[in-house]
Amino acid sequence: MGSGLLSLLLSAEISRTRVELQQTRDSYAAAILLEQQKAAKPVTRKYTVTYDISYRGEVLADKTEFANLVRETLSSPNGWVRAGVTFKEVSSGGRLHMVLATGDQVRAAAPGGCSDTLSCTVKPYVLINDTRWRLATDSYNNAGQSLKKYRQMVINHEVGHFLGHNHLTNCVNGVAPVMLQQSTGLRGCTANEWPLGSELWVSGL
Ligand SMILES: [Zn+2]
Repeated sequence: MGSGLLSLLLSAEISRTRVELQQTRDSYAAAILLEQQKAAKPVTRKYTVTYDISYRGEVLADKTEFANLVRETLSSPNGWVRAGVTFKEVSSGGRLHMVLATGDQVRAAAPGGCSDTLSCTVKPYVLINDTRWRLATDSYNNAGQSLKKYRQMVINHEVGHFLGHNHLTNCVNGVAPVMLQQSTGLRGCTANEWPLGSELWVSGL
């Protein structure tokens, strides 16, 4: 076999592998999209939730970046908006308090219920752990997920608790529900930062 033919075959093989990889990525993306788009039932009730943003402890993260991503995530058409919730920012006195906090401050919000290593919701406070916010978790980092995706997942997960959701433990068609504890492990599911169609409900508001 001439070396010209060999390199031609090799490059054909490489591009075929690339196509397969892209197809795998596309099918993951399609599966996530499909699960996100499925609504368990039509959303008829509308809720408006005022929220404010604050900080506890000597947080090291960029506060403006935190505030901006909270705004972006809560108003995203992919988020809890799809469950009929409109989030409206106020400077203080919100019904929901979005807090970026150091680990010791997270734990202090509910000793025994919250740990200093993870984020935690103690209604009406959503406490995002400053360390996790800056560094994400092994589960996300090892799966090659972006920091932004982790941050949006943790915002949506904790706000999900505020909206009355408890944890889920199983993938839905291979995709992690936002209420699965993705920070501690993906349990074989594809990482996902948005509520799935089956999670589009609100209770106790
Ligand atoms: Zn949780």
